[in-house]
Amino acid sequence: MQIRMVVVGAVRGIQELTYTVPPALEGQVRAGHRVLAPLLSRKVTGVVLETAESFPNTNGHLKPILEVLEARPLFDRAHLQMMEFLANYYMVPLAEVYRSVIPAVARVESRTMYKIARQPDALRLAAFTDIERKIVDAVTGHPIDSRQMTRLGTDRSFATVLSKLMADGIIESNDSTRGRHRDPTDLIVHLKRDCDPDSLRGKKQLALARMIADAGGSLATSQLAEAVPGAKLALKMLERRGFVRIEAPVFSRNGSSSSNGITTAPLPYELTSEQRAAIEAVAKPIEEKRYETFLLHGVTGSGKTEVYLQLAARTLATGRNVIVMVPEIALADEVVRSFRARFGSLVGIAHSAQNVSERWASWSAALSGEARIMIGPRSLIFAPLHEAGLIVVDEEHDPAYKNEEGIRYHARDLAVVLGRFTRCPVVLGSATPSAESFVNTRRGRYRLLRLPRRVNNLAMASVEVVDLRQGLMRARLVAKPEERKPDAVPLSPELTTALRENLASGGQSLIFLNRRGYHNFLQCNVCGNVIACPNCSVSMTFHMRDRSLRCHYCGNRTPAPEQCPECNEPGLSGQGFGTERLQSSLAELLPTARIDRMDSDTSGRKGARADILAALRAGEIDVLVGTQMITKGFDFPGVTLAAVILADASLNIPDFRSAERTFQLLTQVAGRAGRGERPGRVIIQTYAPHHYSVRAASDQDYARFIRRELELRRELSYPPFAKLAMVRIEGEDPDSVSRLATAAAQALGRAADAYRRTGSLDPIRVLGPAPAPIERIKKRYRWQVMVKSENLTALRTALSAMQSSLARRAHEADVHLAIDVDPVRML
Ligand code: ADP
Ligand code: ZN
Repeated sequence: MQIRMVVVGAVRGIQELTYTVPPALEGQVRAGHRVLAPLLSRKVTGVVLETAESFPNTNGHLKPILEVLEARPLFDRAHLQMMEFLANYYMVPLAEVYRSVIPAVARVESRTMYKIARQPDALRLAAFTDIERKIVDAVTGHPIDSRQMTRLGTDRSFATVLSKLMADGIIESNDSTRGRHRDPTDLIVHLKRDCDPDSLRGKKQLALARMIADAGGSLATSQLAEAVPGAKLALKMLERRGFVRIEAPVFSRNGSSSSNGITTAPLPYELTSEQRAAIEAVAKPIEEKRYETFLLHGVTGSGKTEVYLQLAARTLATGRNVIVMVPEIALADEVVRSFRARFGSLVGIAHSAQNVSERWASWSAALSGEARIMIGPRSLIFAPLHEAGLIVVDEEHDPAYKNEEGIRYHARDLAVVLGRFTRCPVVLGSATPSAESFVNTRRGRYRLLRLPRRVNNLAMASVEVVDLRQGLMRARLVAKPEERKPDAVPLSPELTTALRENLASGGQSLIFLNRRGYHNFLQCNVCGNVIACPNCSVSMTFHMRDRSLRCHYCGNRTPAPEQCPECNEPGLSGQGFGTERLQSSLAELLPTARIDRMDSDTSGRKGARADILAALRAGEIDVLVGTQMITKGFDFPGVTLAAVILADASLNIPDFRSAERTFQLLTQVAGRAGRGERPGRVIIQTYAPHHYSVRAASDQDYARFIRRELELRRELSYPPFAKLAMVRIEGEDPDSVSRLATAAAQALGRAADAYRRTGSLDPIRVLGPAPAPIERIKKRYRWQVMVKSENLTALRTALSAMQSSLARRAHEADVHLAIDVDPVRML
């Protein structure tokens, strides 16, 4: 028998290869298995794409594979097909797709290890050159691998010196294979963040710490033991000295029988007729095991989660499994809790903060069938949960489903692809469906299911829009005297009164502002200088708590200076406002209120978010200020007032989706109020009260919003009416970056011309090159070229022609050139 496999992470450009299966492994290999195979002088991991008695066109002597790495194929056929789609659609080599998708800890690598074979005698030692001494010192005590060896030197003369030492019998090398399929019960060693490996004395401890650091901060003990002899003792030492933490991977392994954990207590309420209709509609393809995509458009508080739960139960009954995708697991407490309450230990979670080993543990749980419902963020789409019978994408409109680093896939779109290959229904849920998904219901690709009412006959909250243009003068009067300047936090009399009334009647308030920090920036009154990040082309945000300046793009943090760094005058003053300042302004305004804040500054510590939520639930917080973290999955009956400080903040971002984002955010905030018995009230402050997204959100009228939005998108040929791709060009040298961007635009222009000459009616349009709105991030300059067309195939042809003509030049100029198909982030 033969197999065709894709090499995980191409080796010297080699992507796909054919091997034979040796008699001993005959019958054990299927498509989707990971195997170990010889390649050049190494061993590599491959994923089997196909098996056959013999493939045509394979020339002669094929090598046999060495090992099959797991009993059950890691990927099922549907996942293999999805990966192939992904590689094609997003224009990434398949080998690269598998490399970035398989958790690092599960990757098998073979390495050459070097160690001392014989101590050099005194005479030889005395004659050592510097390089020789360096090499011998490095391998003394414990072996080092080829990667560590290349750190010592890579040039020709270095290689000659090394082979001389080996020929003299001082150093020897052997090949070792490591990083095998991990046993999930293996203990995991975590390096503590404040451990600086270079401060360690013992050689073994140092080697271990380095290995763990290289692996991203944690590694399995067995892996360390394989690489460093005597690792156990050294690890104990490291643990005792407080440099590492050793613990079992985070995954509960209790319960594995399929009925275990399901709670069958009767529902405390009756399903609404709309919920019932939605469930029946999706139940059909679940039972018939066929593909269909549904867009579940349910207003906030309409009980979408209950629909997912009922559908999940029906899916388990068919023997198939359930994938539930959420935008961010850390913000999905309510969804997770609901599923755990009903399905207990059948629920597995892929946590975004999981390290590689923990991720491998949850992959194993999915693979072994221990977890039958997996909940997680976008990367969950790659987890080996076979035989999916239902895929749910909650909050399908959320931009977090788009991966912005590495392979730029959109997990919602992949979910639909996976559903088609697996032959199961896909449910996309949202209170504010994306324009893309909505148009797909119009085109007959998705079926629209609606939950237009809140459960328990609760009314939607009433929304008032406050026009800040008139309120500006009055607003200044309410602010602190020293803050009577145009940029004071706008707290209109309407909002102030509403807050006071709500406080007096014992209600809780949520206040949304999508900017953290105290001041947006510091500006010098003398010379006009605004303090910017040295690494990025953005101003630095002032944080009062520690009087620091922080860059929200690269994380750079410095103490705020007393004097202007440009003119040395003490003229710096803060401008603009963020959540920190909002909190302190509110404290002045409502001295008796208990005010708390939730943003990534306050919820960084583990459990901080949960603590705030618990306090809110217990009624210990009167007013909660926060960024968009407070708009997601909040279901608090005590919240009777929700407010938006500045609706314009998201409206003014240079992005064709900014109106849509604004509508989504406003609708989400409005949906937080009035989920209990008392009616809710919502106040939206804005300088653009007549903007269609603000008006539609205040009337909670999705239909009106989307009609207008689609008109504009059509007029301007933006998605969903045209296909869009962004070529992103980045590098440290500004000239090389702009030159390459120009070349990319020219290459695309030529392709567009050629395409036009074929007489096609839907042209390819090239926009740019132009610097990205944020021109520099983390010291890298960024340019972009946008391409639009209604013809996806033509667009792809043009892009790949551009890519192959420029790949070499980009590589030589040290410029990164990436294609982003269906881009989401425009900045
Ligand atoms: P959504 O996700 O649509 O905003 P949720 O699923 O969070 O709404 O539901 C809101 C609340 O209503 C939850 O506490 C849920 O338990 C409850 N609920 C769901 N369905 C019903 C129903 N038919 N009758 C009463 N309460 C319900
Ligand atoms: Zn920065």
